[in-house]
Amino acid sequence: MGSWKPRSFVCSVCGRVHKPGESEYTCVACYTGVLEPMSLSSAVLAEPIFTESPGMWRYERLLALSPEALRPPMPVGRTPLVPGGRLGRQTGLANLFIKNDTLNPTGSLKDRATAVVLARAAEIGAAGIAVASTGNAGSSLAGLAASMGMPAMIFVPESAPRAKVVQALMYGARVFAVRGTYDDAFDLCVEACKRFNWYNRSTALNHWTIEGKKTVAYEIYEGLGNRAPNMVLIPTGDGCVLSGVARGFQDLLDLRLIERLPRLIAVQASGSNAIACLLAGAPPPERVKTVADSIKVRVPRNGPLAVRDIRATGGRAIEVSDDAILTAVRDLASATGIFAEPAGAAALAGLQALRAEENIDREATIVLLVTGSGLKDIDAAAGIAPSPVVIEPSVDALQGLDLHRENASGSA
Ligand SMILES: *Cc1c(COP(=O)(O)O)cnc(C)c1O
Ligand SMILES: [Zn+2]
Repeated sequence: MGSWKPRSFVCSVCGRVHKPGESEYTCVACYTGVLEPMSLSSAVLAEPIFTESPGMWRYERLLALSPEALRPPMPVGRTPLVPGGRLGRQTGLANLFIKNDTLNPTGSLKDRATAVVLARAAEIGAAGIAVASTGNAGSSLAGLAASMGMPAMIFVPESAPRAKVVQALMYGARVFAVRGTYDDAFDLCVEACKRFNWYNRSTALNHWTIEGKKTVAYEIYEGLGNRAPNMVLIPTGDGCVLSGVARGFQDLLDLRLIERLPRLIAVQASGSNAIACLLAGAPPPERVKTVADSIKVRVPRNGPLAVRDIRATGGRAIEVSDDAILTAVRDLASATGIFAEPAGAAALAGLQALRAEENIDREATIVLLVTGSGLKDIDAAAGIAPSPVVIEPSVDALQGLDLHRENASGSA
Protein backbone atom coordinates (compact mmCIF):
# COMPACT_ATOMS: atom_id res chain seq x y z
CA MET A 1 0.00 0.00 0.00
CA GLY A 2 0.97 3.60 0.31
CA SER A 3 3.19 4.13 -2.68
CA TRP A 4 0.48 4.67 -5.29
CA LYS A 5 0.80 7.88 -7.24
CA PRO A 6 -1.28 9.05 -10.19
CA ARG A 7 0.29 8.34 -13.57
CA SER A 8 0.75 10.77 -16.41
CA PHE A 9 -0.44 9.86 -19.88
CA VAL A 10 1.32 10.19 -23.24
CA CYS A 11 -0.41 10.77 -26.56
CA SER A 12 0.20 7.78 -28.83
CA VAL A 13 0.25 10.06 -31.90
CA CYS A 14 1.99 13.37 -31.06
CA GLY A 15 3.70 12.40 -27.80
CA ARG A 16 2.22 15.20 -25.71
CA VAL A 17 2.42 14.36 -22.02
CA HIS A 18 -0.83 14.81 -20.07
CA LYS A 19 -0.82 15.34 -16.33
CA PRO A 20 -3.04 12.94 -14.34
CA GLY A 21 -6.67 13.83 -14.95
CA GLU A 22 -5.91 16.33 -17.72
CA SER A 23 -8.00 14.44 -20.26
CA GLU A 24 -10.39 11.50 -19.89
CA TYR A 25 -10.54 11.07 -23.64
CA THR A 26 -8.17 11.61 -26.56
CA CYS A 27 -5.19 14.01 -26.73
CA VAL A 28 -5.88 17.67 -25.98
CA ALA A 29 -3.31 18.77 -28.58
CA CYS A 30 -3.92 16.62 -31.67
CA TYR A 31 -7.46 15.45 -30.70
CA THR A 32 -7.06 12.01 -32.25
CA GLY A 33 -4.27 10.35 -30.28
CA VAL A 34 -5.29 7.70 -27.73
CA LEU A 35 -3.66 8.39 -24.34
CA GLU A 36 -1.41 5.78 -22.76
CA PRO A 37 -0.13 5.69 -19.19
CA MET A 38 3.59 6.32 -18.81
CA SER A 39 5.69 3.18 -18.73
CA LEU A 40 5.46 1.09 -15.59
CA SER A 41 9.21 0.75 -15.23
CA SER A 42 9.36 4.35 -14.04
CA ALA A 43 6.48 3.91 -11.61
CA VAL A 44 7.20 2.79 -8.09
CA LEU A 45 5.20 -0.36 -7.55
CA ALA A 46 4.15 -1.66 -4.17
CA GLU A 47 4.90 -5.31 -3.42
CA PRO A 48 3.41 -7.76 -4.05
CA ILE A 49 2.62 -6.78 -7.63
CA PHE A 50 -0.39 -9.12 -7.76
CA THR A 51 -2.81 -8.80 -4.84
CA GLU A 52 -5.53 -11.04 -3.41
CA SER A 53 -8.34 -8.65 -4.42
CA PRO A 54 -11.29 -10.32 -6.21
CA GLY A 55 -11.33 -10.87 -9.97
CA MET A 56 -9.28 -8.55 -12.14
CA TRP A 57 -8.62 -6.28 -9.15
CA ARG A 58 -5.82 -8.73 -8.44
CA TYR A 59 -3.94 -6.44 -10.84
CA GLU A 60 -5.02 -3.17 -9.17
CA ARG A 61 -1.42 -2.10 -8.63
CA LEU A 62 -0.74 -2.25 -12.36
CA LEU A 63 -3.70 -0.03 -13.23
CA ALA A 64 -3.27 3.72 -13.60
CA LEU A 65 -6.38 4.04 -11.42
CA SER A 66 -6.57 5.27 -7.86
CA PRO A 67 -6.89 2.34 -5.41
CA GLU A 68 -9.47 4.48 -3.57
CA ALA A 69 -11.88 4.56 -6.53
CA LEU A 70 -15.23 2.91 -5.83
CA ARG A 71 -15.47 -0.31 -7.88
CA PRO A 72 -18.45 -2.20 -9.25
CA PRO A 73 -19.18 -4.95 -6.69
CA MET A 74 -19.57 -7.57 -9.43
CA PRO A 75 -16.36 -9.60 -9.82
CA VAL A 76 -14.96 -9.36 -13.36
CA GLY A 77 -12.13 -11.35 -14.92
CA ARG A 78 -10.04 -14.20 -13.51
CA THR A 79 -11.63 -16.28 -16.26
CA PRO A 80 -10.25 -19.76 -17.00
CA LEU A 81 -7.37 -20.38 -19.38
CA VAL A 82 -8.05 -23.94 -20.49
CA PRO A 83 -5.96 -26.35 -22.55
CA GLY A 84 -7.24 -26.83 -26.09
CA GLY A 85 -7.90 -30.53 -25.37
CA ARG A 86 -9.59 -32.19 -28.32
CA LEU A 87 -9.17 -29.00 -30.33
CA GLY A 88 -5.41 -29.18 -29.76
CA ARG A 89 -5.35 -32.81 -30.86
CA GLN A 90 -7.46 -32.07 -33.94
CA THR A 91 -5.15 -29.26 -34.97
CA GLY A 92 -1.96 -31.09 -34.00
CA LEU A 93 -0.89 -28.23 -31.74
CA ALA A 94 0.58 -29.43 -28.46
CA ASN A 95 0.26 -26.16 -26.55
CA LEU A 96 -3.02 -24.63 -27.59
CA PHE A 97 -4.98 -22.74 -24.92
CA ILE A 98 -8.31 -21.00 -24.81
CA LYS A 99 -8.95 -17.93 -22.71
CA ASN A 100 -12.65 -18.18 -21.95
CA ASP A 101 -13.81 -14.62 -21.47
CA THR A 102 -17.42 -15.60 -22.16
CA LEU A 103 -17.51 -16.20 -18.39
CA ASN A 104 -17.47 -12.55 -17.40
CA PRO A 105 -20.60 -11.32 -15.56
CA THR A 106 -22.38 -9.95 -18.64
CA GLY A 107 -20.87 -12.54 -20.97
CA SER A 108 -18.05 -10.71 -22.71
CA LEU A 109 -14.53 -9.38 -22.31
CA LYS A 110 -15.99 -5.84 -22.40
CA ASP A 111 -16.65 -6.14 -18.66
CA ARG A 112 -12.93 -5.65 -18.00
CA ALA A 113 -13.03 -2.24 -19.66
CA THR A 114 -16.35 -1.33 -18.10
CA ALA A 115 -15.15 -2.11 -14.58
CA VAL A 116 -12.20 0.28 -14.83
CA VAL A 117 -14.22 3.00 -16.60
CA LEU A 118 -16.96 2.83 -13.95
CA ALA A 119 -14.42 3.09 -11.16
CA ARG A 120 -12.97 6.11 -12.92
CA ALA A 121 -16.45 7.64 -13.46
CA ALA A 122 -17.19 7.23 -9.76
CA GLU A 123 -13.84 8.73 -8.86
CA ILE A 124 -14.50 11.92 -10.80
CA GLY A 125 -18.10 12.10 -9.63
CA ALA A 126 -19.91 11.49 -12.93
CA ALA A 127 -23.70 11.73 -12.65
CA GLY A 128 -24.34 9.39 -15.58
CA ILE A 129 -22.44 7.32 -18.07
CA ALA A 130 -23.03 6.60 -21.75
CA VAL A 131 -21.60 4.41 -24.47
CA ALA A 132 -21.92 3.78 -28.18
CA SER A 133 -21.84 0.08 -28.81
CA THR A 134 -22.44 -2.64 -31.35
CA GLY A 135 -24.03 -4.52 -28.42
CA ASN A 136 -21.61 -5.97 -25.89
CA ALA A 137 -20.13 -2.75 -24.53
CA GLY A 138 -23.70 -1.58 -24.01
CA SER A 139 -24.93 -4.64 -22.17
CA SER A 140 -21.70 -4.67 -20.18
CA LEU A 141 -22.05 -1.05 -19.13
CA ALA A 142 -25.73 -1.55 -18.34
CA GLY A 143 -25.04 -4.56 -16.12
CA LEU A 144 -22.09 -3.25 -14.15
CA ALA A 145 -23.65 0.23 -13.84
CA ALA A 146 -26.74 -1.46 -12.38
CA SER A 147 -24.54 -3.16 -9.80
CA MET A 148 -23.28 0.28 -8.77
CA GLY A 149 -26.54 2.16 -9.08
CA MET A 150 -25.23 4.53 -11.76
CA PRO A 151 -27.57 5.69 -14.59
CA ALA A 152 -26.45 4.27 -17.96
CA MET A 153 -27.30 5.46 -21.47
CA ILE A 154 -26.65 3.06 -24.34
CA PHE A 155 -26.52 4.01 -28.03
CA VAL A 156 -26.70 1.01 -30.37
CA PRO A 157 -27.31 0.76 -34.10
CA GLU A 158 -30.87 -0.36 -34.80
CA SER A 159 -29.42 -3.63 -36.15
CA ALA A 160 -27.79 -4.73 -32.84
CA PRO A 161 -28.59 -8.37 -31.91
CA ARG A 162 -31.76 -8.66 -29.85
CA ALA A 163 -30.24 -10.56 -26.95
CA LYS A 164 -27.70 -7.82 -26.26
CA VAL A 165 -30.35 -5.10 -26.39
CA VAL A 166 -32.79 -7.04 -24.18
CA GLN A 167 -29.97 -7.71 -21.74
CA ALA A 168 -29.18 -3.98 -21.46
CA LEU A 169 -32.88 -3.14 -21.05
CA MET A 170 -33.33 -5.71 -18.27
CA TYR A 171 -30.42 -4.14 -16.40
CA GLY A 172 -32.45 -0.94 -16.44
CA ALA A 173 -30.37 1.15 -18.83
CA ARG A 174 -31.86 3.70 -21.22
CA VAL A 175 -31.26 2.14 -24.63
CA PHE A 176 -31.36 4.25 -27.80
CA ALA A 177 -31.58 2.28 -31.05
CA VAL A 178 -30.05 4.71 -33.49
CA ARG A 179 -31.37 4.74 -37.06
CA GLY A 180 -27.96 4.39 -38.63
CA THR A 181 -24.68 2.55 -38.24
CA TYR A 182 -22.44 2.08 -35.23
CA ASP A 183 -20.45 5.07 -36.50
CA ASP A 184 -23.59 7.21 -36.37
CA ALA A 185 -24.31 5.95 -32.84
CA PHE A 186 -20.74 6.83 -31.85
CA ASP A 187 -20.98 10.43 -33.05
CA LEU A 188 -24.38 10.90 -31.43
CA CYS A 189 -23.07 9.56 -28.12
CA VAL A 190 -20.19 12.06 -28.18
CA GLU A 191 -22.61 14.96 -28.72
CA ALA A 192 -25.06 13.73 -26.10
CA CYS A 193 -22.29 13.39 -23.51
CA LYS A 194 -21.28 16.99 -24.12
CA ARG A 195 -24.84 18.27 -23.94
CA PHE A 196 -25.91 16.28 -20.85
CA ASN A 197 -22.56 16.05 -19.11
CA TRP A 198 -22.36 12.26 -19.07
CA TYR A 199 -19.12 10.35 -18.82
CA ASN A 200 -18.38 8.65 -22.16
CA ARG A 201 -17.24 5.02 -22.06
CA SER A 202 -17.02 4.68 -25.85
CA THR A 203 -14.13 2.58 -26.99
CA ALA A 204 -10.88 4.24 -28.20
CA LEU A 205 -12.20 7.64 -27.12
CA ASN A 206 -12.04 6.68 -23.45
CA HIS A 207 -8.50 5.48 -22.82
CA TRP A 208 -9.47 3.72 -19.58
CA THR A 209 -11.08 0.94 -21.63
CA ILE A 210 -7.68 -0.29 -22.82
CA GLU A 211 -6.39 -0.05 -19.27
CA GLY A 212 -9.14 -2.48 -18.20
CA LYS A 213 -8.75 -4.84 -21.12
CA LYS A 214 -5.04 -5.27 -20.47
CA THR A 215 -5.82 -7.42 -17.43
CA VAL A 216 -6.55 -10.34 -19.74
CA ALA A 217 -2.85 -10.40 -20.67
CA TYR A 218 -1.78 -10.68 -17.03
CA GLU A 219 -4.18 -13.59 -16.59
CA ILE A 220 -2.79 -15.37 -19.64
CA TYR A 221 0.72 -14.90 -18.24
CA GLU A 222 -0.26 -16.31 -14.86
CA GLY A 223 -2.40 -19.08 -16.39
CA LEU A 224 0.61 -20.31 -18.36
CA GLY A 225 2.71 -20.51 -15.20
CA ASN A 226 4.24 -17.03 -15.40
CA ARG A 227 5.32 -16.89 -19.01
CA ALA A 228 4.20 -15.28 -22.24
CA PRO A 229 2.73 -17.38 -25.04
CA ASN A 230 4.26 -17.25 -28.52
CA MET A 231 1.08 -16.01 -30.11
CA VAL A 232 -2.36 -14.67 -29.19
CA LEU A 233 -5.22 -14.65 -31.71
CA ILE A 234 -7.60 -11.76 -31.08
CA PRO A 235 -10.95 -11.09 -32.75
CA THR A 236 -10.59 -7.49 -33.90
CA GLY A 237 -13.01 -4.71 -34.80
CA ASP A 238 -11.95 -1.33 -33.40
CA GLY A 239 -8.69 -2.85 -32.17
CA CYS A 240 -9.05 -1.91 -28.50
CA VAL A 241 -8.97 -5.46 -27.22
CA LEU A 242 -5.80 -5.98 -29.21
CA SER A 243 -4.19 -2.83 -27.81
CA GLY A 244 -5.27 -3.90 -24.33
CA VAL A 245 -3.54 -7.25 -24.73
CA ALA A 246 -0.49 -5.45 -26.11
CA ARG A 247 -0.36 -3.03 -23.20
CA GLY A 248 -0.67 -5.84 -20.68
CA PHE A 249 2.25 -7.77 -22.13
CA GLN A 250 4.24 -4.54 -22.53
CA ASP A 251 3.74 -3.88 -18.80
CA LEU A 252 5.07 -7.36 -18.03
CA LEU A 253 8.05 -6.68 -20.26
CA ASP A 254 8.68 -3.31 -18.56
CA LEU A 255 8.60 -5.11 -15.22
CA ARG A 256 11.03 -7.72 -16.60
CA LEU A 257 8.57 -10.51 -15.85
CA ILE A 258 8.75 -11.67 -19.48
CA GLU A 259 11.52 -11.42 -22.04
CA ARG A 260 9.60 -10.85 -25.26
CA LEU A 261 6.16 -9.94 -26.49
CA PRO A 262 3.88 -12.57 -28.00
CA ARG A 263 2.92 -12.11 -31.65
CA LEU A 264 -0.52 -10.56 -31.75
CA ILE A 265 -2.73 -11.76 -34.58
CA ALA A 266 -5.75 -9.59 -35.41
CA VAL A 267 -8.52 -11.87 -36.64
CA GLN A 268 -10.94 -10.01 -38.90
CA ALA A 269 -13.99 -10.97 -40.88
CA SER A 270 -13.19 -10.73 -44.58
CA GLY A 271 -16.31 -8.56 -44.94
CA SER A 272 -15.03 -6.17 -42.25
CA ASN A 273 -11.27 -5.95 -42.65
CA ALA A 274 -10.43 -2.31 -41.96
CA ILE A 275 -7.41 -3.06 -39.77
CA ALA A 276 -6.01 -5.49 -42.33
CA CYS A 277 -6.39 -2.71 -44.91
CA LEU A 278 -4.62 -0.22 -42.66
CA LEU A 279 -1.74 -2.67 -42.15
CA ALA A 280 -1.45 -3.23 -45.88
CA GLY A 281 -1.66 0.47 -46.66
CA ALA A 282 -4.81 -0.22 -48.68
CA PRO A 283 -7.90 2.05 -48.73
CA PRO A 284 -10.51 1.27 -46.06
CA PRO A 285 -13.56 -0.84 -46.97
CA GLU A 286 -16.50 1.21 -48.22
CA ARG A 287 -19.11 -1.02 -46.64
CA VAL A 288 -18.79 -3.75 -44.04
CA LYS A 289 -20.85 -6.90 -43.71
CA THR A 290 -20.34 -9.90 -41.44
CA VAL A 291 -22.27 -12.25 -39.21
CA ALA A 292 -19.82 -11.34 -36.42
CA ASP A 293 -21.50 -8.09 -35.35
CA SER A 294 -19.02 -7.40 -32.54
CA ILE A 295 -16.16 -7.01 -35.00
CA LYS A 296 -18.18 -5.25 -37.69
CA VAL A 297 -16.49 -1.86 -37.84
CA ARG A 298 -15.90 0.32 -40.86
CA VAL A 299 -13.81 3.03 -39.20
CA PRO A 300 -11.71 1.35 -36.51
CA ARG A 301 -11.56 3.92 -33.73
CA ASN A 302 -8.34 2.48 -32.37
CA GLY A 303 -6.91 1.59 -35.79
CA PRO A 304 -3.57 3.46 -35.71
CA LEU A 305 -2.70 2.19 -32.23
CA ALA A 306 -3.68 -1.36 -33.09
CA VAL A 307 -1.51 -1.24 -36.20
CA ARG A 308 1.43 0.01 -34.14
CA ASP A 309 0.90 -2.79 -31.60
CA ILE A 310 0.58 -5.52 -34.22
CA ARG A 311 3.82 -4.36 -35.88
CA ALA A 312 5.66 -4.06 -32.56
CA THR A 313 4.98 -7.71 -31.82
CA GLY A 314 5.79 -9.04 -35.28
CA GLY A 315 2.12 -9.89 -35.64
CA ARG A 316 -0.26 -9.58 -38.54
CA ALA A 317 -3.92 -9.61 -39.52
CA ILE A 318 -5.73 -12.65 -40.85
CA GLU A 319 -9.12 -12.61 -42.56
CA VAL A 320 -11.82 -15.25 -42.24
CA SER A 321 -15.10 -15.76 -44.05
CA ASP A 322 -18.49 -15.80 -42.33
CA ASP A 323 -18.80 -19.50 -43.15
CA ALA A 324 -15.49 -20.19 -41.45
CA ILE A 325 -16.60 -18.15 -38.43
CA LEU A 326 -19.88 -20.06 -38.05
CA THR A 327 -18.09 -23.39 -38.47
CA ALA A 328 -15.69 -22.25 -35.74
CA VAL A 329 -18.63 -21.52 -33.42
CA ARG A 330 -19.71 -25.16 -33.80
CA ASP A 331 -16.19 -26.65 -33.67
CA LEU A 332 -15.25 -24.67 -30.57
CA ALA A 333 -18.47 -25.59 -28.78
CA SER A 334 -18.40 -29.28 -29.68
CA ALA A 335 -14.69 -29.79 -29.02
CA THR A 336 -14.33 -27.74 -25.82
CA GLY A 337 -17.77 -27.01 -24.38
CA ILE A 338 -17.31 -23.26 -24.89
CA PHE A 339 -20.20 -21.69 -26.78
CA ALA A 340 -19.11 -18.37 -28.27
CA GLU A 341 -20.81 -15.72 -30.34
CA PRO A 342 -19.45 -15.46 -33.90
CA ALA A 343 -16.89 -12.76 -33.05
CA GLY A 344 -15.82 -14.80 -30.04
CA ALA A 345 -15.17 -17.92 -32.09
CA ALA A 346 -13.41 -15.97 -34.83
CA ALA A 347 -10.07 -16.59 -33.08
CA LEU A 348 -10.39 -20.29 -33.90
CA ALA A 349 -11.27 -19.58 -37.52
CA GLY A 350 -8.23 -17.30 -37.59
CA LEU A 351 -5.97 -20.07 -36.34
CA GLN A 352 -7.18 -22.37 -39.09
CA ALA A 353 -6.62 -19.68 -41.74
CA LEU A 354 -3.19 -18.85 -40.35
CA ARG A 355 -2.11 -22.48 -40.52
CA ALA A 356 -3.02 -22.52 -44.18
CA GLU A 357 -0.71 -19.56 -44.79
CA GLU A 358 2.16 -20.09 -42.36
CA ASN A 359 4.19 -22.90 -40.93
CA ILE A 360 3.31 -22.91 -37.25
CA ASP A 361 5.60 -24.71 -34.83
CA ARG A 362 3.64 -27.59 -33.30
CA GLU A 363 5.16 -26.87 -29.90
CA ALA A 364 4.37 -23.14 -29.96
CA THR A 365 2.22 -21.85 -27.12
CA ILE A 366 -0.84 -20.35 -28.76
CA VAL A 367 -3.78 -18.66 -27.04
CA LEU A 368 -7.18 -18.15 -28.61
CA LEU A 369 -9.00 -15.24 -27.01
CA VAL A 370 -12.69 -16.12 -26.88
CA THR A 371 -14.38 -12.82 -26.24
CA GLY A 372 -18.16 -13.26 -26.02
CA SER A 373 -20.86 -15.81 -25.19
CA GLY A 374 -22.89 -17.67 -27.81
CA LEU A 375 -26.08 -16.95 -25.90
CA LYS A 376 -25.76 -13.33 -27.01
CA ASP A 377 -26.50 -14.15 -30.63
CA ILE A 378 -28.54 -17.31 -30.93
CA ASP A 379 -29.83 -16.41 -34.39
CA ALA A 380 -26.36 -16.58 -35.93
CA ALA A 381 -25.68 -20.06 -34.54
CA ALA A 382 -29.21 -21.26 -35.35
CA GLY A 383 -28.35 -20.76 -39.00
CA ILE A 384 -26.01 -23.75 -38.94
CA ALA A 385 -27.38 -25.78 -36.03
CA PRO A 386 -29.08 -29.05 -36.99
CA SER A 387 -32.69 -29.47 -35.89
CA PRO A 388 -33.39 -31.42 -32.72
CA VAL A 389 -34.76 -34.91 -33.31
CA VAL A 390 -38.49 -34.78 -32.68
CA ILE A 391 -39.70 -37.97 -31.01
CA GLU A 392 -42.71 -39.41 -29.19
CA PRO A 393 -42.33 -39.52 -25.38
CA SER A 394 -41.38 -43.20 -25.47
CA VAL A 395 -37.98 -44.82 -25.07
CA ASP A 396 -38.76 -47.09 -28.03
CA ALA A 397 -38.61 -44.03 -30.24
CA LEU A 398 -34.88 -43.79 -29.48
CA GLN A 399 -34.27 -47.32 -30.67
CA GLY A 400 -32.35 -47.50 -33.88
CA LEU A 401 -31.10 -43.91 -33.78
CA ASP A 402 -27.36 -43.26 -34.09
CA LEU A 403 -26.96 -42.43 -30.38
CA HIS A 404 -23.32 -42.82 -29.47
CA ARG A 405 -21.48 -40.92 -32.12
CA GLU A 406 -18.95 -38.38 -30.87
CA ASN A 407 -20.05 -34.75 -30.89
CA ALA A 408 -20.25 -33.47 -34.40
CA SER A 409 -17.15 -31.52 -35.24
CA GLY A 410 -16.25 -30.25 -38.65
CA SER A 411 -12.49 -30.23 -38.36
CA ALA A 412 -11.65 -33.76 -37.18
C1 LIG B 1 -15.82 -5.76 -28.77
C2 LIG B 1 -15.61 -7.17 -29.12
C3 LIG B 1 -14.55 -7.59 -29.93
C4 LIG B 1 -13.57 -6.67 -30.61
O1 LIG B 1 -13.02 -5.67 -29.84
P1 LIG B 1 -12.38 -4.38 -30.55
O2 LIG B 1 -11.78 -3.65 -29.44
O3 LIG B 1 -13.51 -3.65 -31.21
O4 LIG B 1 -11.40 -4.86 -31.55
C5 LIG B 1 -14.42 -8.94 -30.17
N1 LIG B 1 -15.29 -9.83 -29.68
C6 LIG B 1 -16.33 -9.46 -28.92
C7 LIG B 1 -17.27 -10.51 -28.42
C8 LIG B 1 -16.53 -8.13 -28.61
O5 LIG B 1 -17.59 -7.78 -27.86
ZN1 LIG C 1 -1.64 14.03 -29.52
